[in-house]
Amino acid sequence: MMHAWYPGPMAPVVAMIRGGMVMGIQKHRRSKMSGATRRAHWKLRGATLVNCPKCHSPMRAHRVCPTCGTYAGRDVMKIEAAEEK
Ligand SMILES: [Zn+2]
Repeated sequence: MMHAWYPGPMAPVVAMIRGGMVMGIQKHRRSKMSGATRRAHWKLRGATLVNCPKCHSPMRAHRVCPTCGTYAGRDVMKIEAAEEK
């Protein structure tokens, strides 16, 4: 299958045939390096962790602490380990 780039005088015609309406047509082909450089920043990042203000264990921000079950200083969840103390 052909690549989806077709610069030239027939570009609007090709766009009409393919899309039915006038669609965006690139004027120049971008190099492989240009695309690769853009995609180099497309990566997953780890979840942001903060320390719980109560038990100081790492937890995700704006969520109930999985260790002590508190949120904003209040007990909102029952945690098995926390009940033993
Ligand atoms: Zn905690």
